[in-house]
Amino acid sequence: MVTVRALLARGNSKLGSAIHHFDLPAVRTCPGRSSVCEAVCYATRHRFRTDPVRERLHWCLRRSRRADFADHVVDEVRQKGALVVRLHVSGDFYDAEYAQKWLSAIRRCRATTFYFYTRSWRVAEVEPVLAELAALENVVGWYSADADTGMPECVPSGVRVAWLQADVDEPVAGDLVFRDRPLREAPPSKVALPLVCPSETPAGRRAHTNCGNCGHCWKQ
Ligand code: SF4
Repeated sequence: MVTVRALLARGNSKLGSAIHHFDLPAVRTCPGRSSVCEAVCYATRHRFRTDPVRERLHWCLRRSRRADFADHVVDEVRQKGALVVRLHVSGDFYDAEYAQKWLSAIRRCRATTFYFYTRSWRVAEVEPVLAELAALENVVGWYSADADTGMPECVPSGVRVAWLQADVDEPVAGDLVFRDRPLREAPPSKVALPLVCPSETPAGRRAHTNCGNCGHCWKQ
């Protein structure tokens, strides 16, 4: 019997049960990483350090390098009827050729919404492909920023900026704030703008907020 392994996984505690995701090994596939994001990266800790997860992420990376990667993504999205796909719970667009493969796949999956956060906007050869991806009608693209990267000088039309806050006194910018875990117990400042991801606030956790029922990052 042939076991067919899936590229897309479905659901986790942050995404909820319905959102599919495709993931890669963190850090080595993150050419735009900053000192801040690498220092607090959740995808280098806890379950991401277990052998089964590490093995799966490396398998996904090998598959992503194949010429038929986009074709397999398209087949799977259709077979699973995936309505929403998050790219890279772990990992990032590691080069332009890989990002082009997603461009090819997503153009063929018009009924599915894809969304991503990326620091690969800091890599000159990758950024134009990210802008093309984000311009697709069924894509929501977020550029990730922090105190190390600063705000991107140029944000393409349709792209929003997600700020990673690692220090409680740090000024934040962009359209959405993610907080490093030690900051999540504190309620957001009443005057703070932009929105703090509700799954990372005490009130949001009490309300069982996840990406599926929130939708801020992927609803168009
Ligand atoms: S703002 Fe909403 S959709 Fe975006 S990461 Fe937070 S919970 Fe998920």
